[in-house]
Amino acid sequence: MDLGIDGKVAVVTAASKGIGFAVAKKLAEEGANLVINSRRKENLNSAKAKLSRIGVKIVSVSGDLKEKETIENIYNAAMENFGKVDILFLNAGGPRPGGFFDVDEKDWKETFETNFMSAQRLVRLIAPNMIKNRWGRIIFLTSISVRNPIKNLILSNSIRMAITGMMKTLSLELAEHNITVNAVAPGYTLTDRVRQLLEDKAKRTGKTYEEVMKELSSVIPVHRLGKPEEIASVVAFLASESAAFLTGQTIVVDGGQDATSV
Ligand code: NAD
Repeated sequence: MDLGIDGKVAVVTAASKGIGFAVAKKLAEEGANLVINSRRKENLNSAKAKLSRIGVKIVSVSGDLKEKETIENIYNAAMENFGKVDILFLNAGGPRPGGFFDVDEKDWKETFETNFMSAQRLVRLIAPNMIKNRWGRIIFLTSISVRNPIKNLILSNSIRMAITGMMKTLSLELAEHNITVNAVAPGYTLTDRVRQLLEDKAKRTGKTYEEVMKELSSVIPVHRLGKPEEIASVVAFLASESAAFLTGQTIVVDGGQDATSV
C-alpha cells in the first residue's frame, strides 16, 4: 500500500531507541525525510547512521524534551533544513513507576514538562506551518493505560489522560485545516526499557527472564508482547494520505489485551 508520504517531512521525538526509532525507520522507509531527537548525542548519532542507510535526509537534534531550548532547536532545524513539517510524532521517555504516595511534587512536575508540555510546545510551534500548507498529521504516543489504569503507574496513567484531552480538542480545532490529530496507545511492547523491567523483575523475584516473560505474555490474548515495528506500522498509516478522514481517535495496539473496551 502506498502511504503517499514520499518526500514529506516528519519530526520524530525520543527516536534513538524503542518505539520512537521504529517509527522513524518506518516513515523513512516510506520516503519521509526526518528530524529526529533524543537525549544522548551518541545514541542519536548511532540511530541517525542506521536511518541514513535508507536514503532519505535525516537531521538530528539532541536534547532533553523537557527543556524549552530543545523544542526550539527541533523546530528551527526542521525549518532551516526543510522549510516545513508535515508529520509530527510526539513521543518521550516514560514517567517513573510508583503509586500515588510513592511520587512527590518534583515527579509530577517533571512528568508534566517531559510528556505533556514538550508535546504542547511542539504543536504550538509546528501547527501554524501545517495550517499554512493545508496538510498535517499529528500523532501522540500514549499508552493502553488510557483505557484502564495500570497499577503502580500513577504518573503515566494521569499524564496520558491529559494528553488524550489535548489530542481530542486539537483534532476539533485543526480539522478544517486538513490536519488530523490522533493517538497511538501501545500495550506491552518489547523495547530495551521493557526488557530491562523484565530483567529487574526476574532478579527481584528469583525467577528466570523466560519465566517472567511467560507470565506477562499470558495476560495478552496473542500470548506475546508487541514489536516496536507493529506500533510503527499503525503510526505510519495514521500519517498517510489514506487516513485523512480519521481524526480525534486513540488507536490501541495491544494484541487484544484491552478487547473489553469499545
Ligand atoms: P525506550 O526506553 O526503548 O526508548 C525511549 C526513547 O526516548 C530513547 O530514545 C530515549 O533517548 C528517549 N528519551 C527518553 N526521555 C527523553 C527526554 N526527556 N528527552 C528526549 N528523549 C528522551 O522506550 P519505549 O519503550 O520505546 O517507550 C517510549 C514511550 O512509549 C514511553 O513514554 C513509554 O512509557 C511509552 N509506552 C511504552 C510501552 C512499552 O511497552 N514499551 C507501552 C506503552 C507506552
